[in-house]
Amino acid sequence: MDKYCLECGEKLIGRVDKKFCSDYCRNSYHNKLNKDTKNLMRNINNILRKNYRILEKLNPEEKTKTSKTKLLAEGFNFQYFTSTYTTQAGKTYYFIYNQGYLPLENEEFYALVKRN
Ligand SMILES: [Zn+2]
Repeated sequence: MDKYCLECGEKLIGRVDKKFCSDYCRNSYHNKLNKDTKNLMRNINNILRKNYRILEKLNPEEKTKTSKTKLLAEGFNFQYFTSTYTTQAGKTYYFIYNQGYLPLENEEFYALVKRN
Protein backbone atom coordinates (compact mmCIF):
# COMPACT_ATOMS: atom_id res chain seq x y z
CA MET A 1 0.00 0.00 0.00
CA ASP A 2 1.32 3.42 -0.88
CA LYS A 3 2.11 5.74 1.99
CA TYR A 4 2.27 9.50 1.88
CA CYS A 5 4.12 12.14 3.88
CA LEU A 6 1.93 13.29 6.78
CA GLU A 7 3.04 16.86 6.23
CA CYS A 8 3.14 17.49 2.47
CA GLY A 9 1.38 14.45 1.01
CA GLU A 10 4.38 13.43 -1.08
CA LYS A 11 4.49 9.69 -1.87
CA LEU A 12 6.94 7.96 0.45
CA ILE A 13 9.68 5.74 -0.86
CA GLY A 14 11.82 3.51 1.32
CA ARG A 15 11.27 2.21 4.81
CA VAL A 16 7.80 0.87 5.60
CA ASP A 17 7.59 2.77 8.91
CA LYS A 18 8.47 6.12 7.32
CA LYS A 19 5.94 8.87 7.96
CA PHE A 20 7.64 11.88 6.42
CA CYS A 21 9.51 12.53 3.20
CA SER A 22 12.16 14.66 4.91
CA ASP A 23 13.44 16.02 8.21
CA TYR A 24 11.98 19.34 7.17
CA CYS A 25 8.47 17.85 6.94
CA ARG A 26 8.88 15.93 10.21
CA ASN A 27 9.92 19.07 12.07
CA SER A 28 7.29 21.22 10.53
CA TYR A 29 4.58 18.63 11.36
CA HIS A 30 5.63 18.36 15.01
CA ASN A 31 6.02 22.11 15.42
CA LYS A 32 2.44 22.57 14.29
CA LEU A 33 1.20 19.88 16.68
CA ASN A 34 3.08 21.50 19.55
CA LYS A 35 1.66 24.86 18.64
CA ASP A 36 -1.89 23.49 18.71
CA THR A 37 -1.27 21.85 22.07
CA LYS A 38 0.20 25.05 23.47
CA ASN A 39 -2.76 27.07 22.22
CA LEU A 40 -5.20 24.58 23.69
CA MET A 41 -3.42 24.64 27.05
CA ARG A 42 -3.24 28.42 27.02
CA ASN A 43 -6.97 28.71 26.29
CA ILE A 44 -7.89 26.31 29.09
CA ASN A 45 -5.54 28.04 31.52
CA ASN A 46 -7.18 31.34 30.65
CA ILE A 47 -10.65 29.90 31.30
CA LEU A 48 -9.52 28.47 34.65
CA ARG A 49 -7.93 31.77 35.62
CA LYS A 50 -11.10 33.64 34.71
CA ASN A 51 -13.28 31.16 36.62
CA TYR A 52 -10.98 31.53 39.62
CA ARG A 53 -11.16 35.32 39.55
CA ILE A 54 -14.96 35.21 39.35
CA LEU A 55 -15.22 32.89 42.37
CA GLU A 56 -12.71 35.01 44.26
CA LYS A 57 -14.69 38.16 43.48
CA LEU A 58 -18.09 36.67 44.40
CA ASN A 59 -16.69 34.94 47.48
CA PRO A 60 -14.39 37.40 49.26
CA GLU A 61 -14.94 35.69 52.62
CA GLU A 62 -14.81 31.97 53.30
CA LYS A 63 -18.26 31.11 52.02
CA THR A 64 -21.35 32.57 50.41
CA LYS A 65 -24.21 31.78 48.10
CA THR A 66 -24.78 33.01 44.57
CA SER A 67 -27.01 32.34 41.58
CA LYS A 68 -26.27 30.67 38.29
CA THR A 69 -27.44 33.84 36.54
CA LYS A 70 -24.82 35.87 38.36
CA LEU A 71 -22.03 33.40 37.59
CA LEU A 72 -22.99 33.29 33.92
CA ALA A 73 -23.22 37.08 33.77
CA GLU A 74 -19.62 37.22 34.99
CA GLY A 75 -18.62 34.81 32.23
CA PHE A 76 -18.19 31.70 34.35
CA ASN A 77 -17.54 28.50 32.39
CA PHE A 78 -18.94 25.44 34.19
CA GLN A 79 -17.08 22.98 31.98
CA TYR A 80 -13.68 23.75 33.47
CA PHE A 81 -12.48 23.07 37.00
CA THR A 82 -9.36 21.51 38.51
CA SER A 83 -10.81 18.95 40.92
CA THR A 84 -13.97 17.66 42.54
CA TYR A 85 -14.78 16.61 46.07
CA THR A 86 -17.72 14.36 46.87
CA THR A 87 -18.99 14.35 50.44
CA GLN A 88 -20.26 11.26 52.24
CA ALA A 89 -23.78 12.53 51.59
CA GLY A 90 -23.02 12.37 47.88
CA LYS A 91 -22.77 16.09 47.18
CA THR A 92 -20.08 17.06 44.71
CA TYR A 93 -18.11 20.25 45.07
CA TYR A 94 -16.22 21.54 42.04
CA PHE A 95 -12.94 23.31 42.65
CA ILE A 96 -10.80 25.71 40.71
CA TYR A 97 -7.67 25.41 42.80
CA ASN A 98 -8.90 26.35 46.29
CA GLN A 99 -12.12 28.09 45.26
CA GLY A 100 -15.07 25.75 45.08
CA TYR A 101 -18.75 25.71 44.29
CA LEU A 102 -21.59 23.35 45.04
CA PRO A 103 -24.77 23.26 42.95
CA LEU A 104 -27.91 23.82 45.06
CA GLU A 105 -31.61 23.79 44.36
CA ASN A 106 -31.76 22.52 40.76
CA GLU A 107 -28.51 24.27 39.92
CA GLU A 108 -30.14 27.67 40.04
CA PHE A 109 -28.04 28.57 43.06
CA TYR A 110 -24.54 27.74 44.14
CA ALA A 111 -22.75 27.63 47.45
CA LEU A 112 -19.27 29.08 47.13
CA VAL A 113 -16.56 27.87 49.46
CA LYS A 114 -12.89 28.46 49.92
CA ARG A 115 -10.60 25.62 50.86
CA ASN A 116 -7.54 26.45 52.91
ZN1 LIG B 1 6.89 15.86 3.07
